[in-house]
Amino acid sequence: MTAEQVTGTQGLIFNYLLIFEQGGEGRIGYSLPDCDVPEKNINNILPEDMVREEISGFPSLSEVDVVRHFTRLSQWNYAVDSGFYPLGSCTMKYNPKINEDVARLSGFSNIHPYQSEELSQGALQMMYELCEYLSEIGGMDRVSLQPAAGAHGELTGMMVIKAYLDSKGEKRHKVLIPDSAHGTNPASSSLCGYKVVEIKSNGRGLLDSDAVDKAMNEDVAAFMITNPNTLGLFEENILEITEIVHRKGGLVYCDGANLNALMGIARPGDMGVDVLHFNLHKTFSTPHGGGGPGAGPIGVKKGLIPFLPIPIIKKEQEIYKLNYDLPHSIGRVKAFYGNFGVLVRAYTYIRTMGAEGLRKASETAVLNANYIMSRLKSHYHLPYDRWCMHECVFSDKIQNKNGITTLDIAKALMDYGFHPPTIYFPLIVKGAIMIEPTETEGKDTLDSFIEAMKDIAIRAERGPDSIKKSPLKPKVGRLNETKAAREPDLRWKKS
Ligand SMILES: *Cc1c(COP(=O)(O)O)cnc(C)c1O
Repeated sequence: MTAEQVTGTQGLIFNYLLIFEQGGEGRIGYSLPDCDVPEKNINNILPEDMVREEISGFPSLSEVDVVRHFTRLSQWNYAVDSGFYPLGSCTMKYNPKINEDVARLSGFSNIHPYQSEELSQGALQMMYELCEYLSEIGGMDRVSLQPAAGAHGELTGMMVIKAYLDSKGEKRHKVLIPDSAHGTNPASSSLCGYKVVEIKSNGRGLLDSDAVDKAMNEDVAAFMITNPNTLGLFEENILEITEIVHRKGGLVYCDGANLNALMGIARPGDMGVDVLHFNLHKTFSTPHGGGGPGAGPIGVKKGLIPFLPIPIIKKEQEIYKLNYDLPHSIGRVKAFYGNFGVLVRAYTYIRTMGAEGLRKASETAVLNANYIMSRLKSHYHLPYDRWCMHECVFSDKIQNKNGITTLDIAKALMDYGFHPPTIYFPLIVKGAIMIEPTETEGKDTLDSFIEAMKDIAIRAERGPDSIKKSPLKPKVGRLNETKAAREPDLRWKKS
């Protein structure tokens, strides 16, 4: 496929009025049988303050109006089910539909969290086994499934670390975080009451053990590392770094968002990591985007198990139980047992892939990223020119000479039918373009993406004009991004 052949956002997709502007007097979208009991006035049954008044402007719509409205919204959306989604650091892999089938099994979908343990054995077994699988994949001793997302896992993990250090009477109040880290890392540490100290990466995009050694002292509770880091590079000094942190009495937290590069190949737990979070909605193929729900289980090493959130699931003579008897637990971080439906999907993914399949997924993810990196480095500046892991980071340095920025490149890609990559992150690369293809994309897709990127680079060389106006094909062109988010105006205006 050439770039021109890629189906873009043109087609039989029309503009429509807002749902509030549609419909007509008396239209209804349901039909109910005649009432066969005496009708009562709601105002006589419910207390006054519980009866809602008429909603002004509420549209009257037929069933077909409603179905078309929501179908249209789904078509206007861009999703991993509709095309390539190379958003770096987000692992937008395809979500196998068998995950959905299993999540809909009535034994999983109709269960109630207040149901007794003996009537929930299947669900508890699933959660118990998921904990075991995640422990094995991450090299950790015990897993809690409660946190609802990666950032929530970070917070939970830091709370566990704090509770552990408090129990030893330690007064450590700082956390070391590399300058390439995701913004949630310092945010989670701060929420936990820690002062964040930034560690600079070296010229190769990696952490120097000397820098860690210098910053590591008796004030430091933990080092928060991401491996592979957000440049898509493996932290080669990880063993030395974790050794230094431990020797000086601190703990190591690993942001596991990039686990898609490592599954079945290397385990953070074997690298000296004490706490690790998993992003089930990234690495383990549960849907994400649009705010969730996700799941961010944490794994910990032995000494930290007593501090995990309650309940944890245990197995006694083939019976699964919820254990609330953890006197040092930090307590609950989420209602019930986390986002259960997401856990079922991740469990299904692990079971269908198997150990070899997971390893293959990571190997292919790394291969795909290196393929894109190798083929695009003739046209785009590659700040750290070495083999990458599951994602690669370019910059707009070359195109900048012609006044083209990373934002322009991202916008232009939309005209080729591609979702833009992550841009301007990580912060340590000026004008970063962060591409994560994942293993679920075939070579034909990667090739047409590469062609599109090259085409944009060639157009950029000829002058900025045509690119500055892009995107031209989607329903809306360039919006004022701040204003569009703060004052969304979804009305269709004829231009
Ligand atoms: C996605 C991500 C997070 C946060 O995870 P959420 O599930 O979005 O809360 C943290 N760190 C890195 C490196 C990430 O990519």
